[in-house]
Amino acid sequence: MRRKIIAGNWKMNKTPSETIKLINELKPLVATEDADVVFCVPAISLVIAVEAAKGSNIEIGAENMYFEESGAFTGEIAPNMLTDIGVKYVIIGHSERREYFGETDETVNKKVLKAFEHGITPIVCCGESLTQREQGITIDWIRQQIKVAFLNVTAEQAKKAVIAYEPIWAIGTGKVATSAQAQEVCAAIRVCIGEIYDEATAQAIRIQYGGSVTADSAAELFAQPDIDGGLVGGASLKPDFGKIVNYK
Ligand code: PGA
Repeated sequence: MRRKIIAGNWKMNKTPSETIKLINELKPLVATEDADVVFCVPAISLVIAVEAAKGSNIEIGAENMYFEESGAFTGEIAPNMLTDIGVKYVIIGHSERREYFGETDETVNKKVLKAFEHGITPIVCCGESLTQREQGITIDWIRQQIKVAFLNVTAEQAKKAVIAYEPIWAIGTGKVATSAQAQEVCAAIRVCIGEIYDEATAQAIRIQYGGSVTADSAAELFAQPDIDGGLVGGASLKPDFGKIVNYK
C-alpha cells in the first residue's frame, strides 16, 4: 500500500511573517498519521517555515531549485542550501515554471537527478494543455514528459519520487478534472514507469493529482486506485487544506 502524500503549493503567496501565521493556523488542522503532509513555500520563507513546522507532521518543500551545486548563477538556489536548512521536498517542472521561466523537460531531468543526489524528494510535475487534450494526445505527451524527466534516474531513486499530474487547464481555473480523467492519466503514468523500470517501481512511486483540488473534490480523487494524493495550490492557503488532508 502506498502512503498518501498531500502537498500544498503556495506559489508566490504569503510574506515570511504571514507564513509563520498560516503554518501555526494550519498545524492542528493538517495533523494526521495517515498521509505525508508537505508545504511548499516561497524560497524566502523556507528557513522560517522549517522552524515553524518543527514538532508537527508538516514537512517543508521548495517550489524550485537549480541543478548546479554553487557558483555564478545569480538568483538561484542550490540543492545543498535546501538540505542544509532541513527542506525535504522540491517541486520540479511546475507548468508555471515551464511557461514563464523557460523550463524544459531537459532542465527538469537535470533538477530531478540533482535532487536525488542530495536526498531531496522531487515532486515532478507533468500535464497537458487544453489544446493537447482536445487533440487527443494527452497520454503521448505525458509519457514523453515522464520519459525525459526520469532519464538516468535509477529504479531505487524512482521508487522514492513523487509525480504530480496537473492538467494545465485545471490549474487555478476551478475546473477540476473528473476523477475518471485524473485516474486515466495517473494509471498511464504508472504504466510508463513500469515500462522504464519494472512493476515494483511502478507500484512504489507515488502519483498525485493537481489542479483545482478542493475539500469537495479531494475524497473522490484520492480514492482512485492510481492517485496517491494531491498537489494543491489555492486551497492550500486556507483552513480548507485541513479538510483536504483529512479527506476520508
Ligand atoms: P490549484 O493549483 O490547486 O490552485 O489549481 C495547483 C498547482 O498549480 O499545483
